[in-house]
Amino acid sequence: MRITRTARVGVAALALAFAATACGGDEATSASSSAESGKLTVGIKFDQPGLGLRTPDGSFSGFDVEVAKYVAGKLGVTPENITFKESPSAQRETLIENGEVDYIVATYSITDARKEKVDFAGPYFVAGQSLLVADGNTDITGPESLSGGKRLCSVSGSTPAQKVKDQYAQDVQLQEFDTYSACVEALRNGAVDAVTTDDIILAGYAAQYPGELKVVGEPFTEERYGIGLAKGDDETRTKINDAIDAMIEDGSWQKAFEDTVGPSGYPLPAQPTVDRY
Ligand code: GLU
Repeated sequence: MRITRTARVGVAALALAFAATACGGDEATSASSSAESGKLTVGIKFDQPGLGLRTPDGSFSGFDVEVAKYVAGKLGVTPENITFKESPSAQRETLIENGEVDYIVATYSITDARKEKVDFAGPYFVAGQSLLVADGNTDITGPESLSGGKRLCSVSGSTPAQKVKDQYAQDVQLQEFDTYSACVEALRNGAVDAVTTDDIILAGYAAQYPGELKVVGEPFTEERYGIGLAKGDDETRTKINDAIDAMIEDGSWQKAFEDTVGPSGYPLPAQPTVDRY
């Protein structure tokens, strides 16, 4: 009896394992099928003012949030049916690969290295890497002025951290945290001399602490923000690309930008062109 039951459980477990393999095989998890069920889980940042921010009352604001909602709407999902999940820079590919999010809108640059693991719709925005320093700082004016052992903060798993490691690592003391808000705290209390990431992110922090922090220098990279989703989910990627085009076309893109990023003083840039690779 006991043996029989064990055997039966064993067969059931094996069947389950086969089923799981079949699902996880070449058939990609589809954000479209989540949307058909009426709900979506979307990855955003929780600590980037103007872009992806969880406010104290538990609601979410920012340009990425508006883009996420617009896209969800085009997939047939209303804002109340979106669950936002915090997606720190270093965890984004994993969150998508594990199916923990349907897509990610989180200042997520399209790169070839990331494209090996995930796919991208977009770009829906183009930013550039820059530097944030204390308002009274006069010696840091661009990436070259970081030499001489300046203490620079960025976030692990982000493109700016990689860029600095590749190009300035000999001269600079790089500190990597999990979030930019942690870097900003380190800058405010004097533990680092500068924070580096995309100018649009830094503009949000500078606006949060006027007279205390400032963005310096010209942007020194091009960061094309994409909406990350499961690799191979071409059906959803096409739908999201169509949604981005529509958002730009009907004026919602510009309005969302003006309502969220606009107050920081970051100027409205040219509208991006979606790259249907
Ligand atoms: N856009 C850059 C990236 O995707 C920096 C911003 C971020 O870490 O979210 O790595």
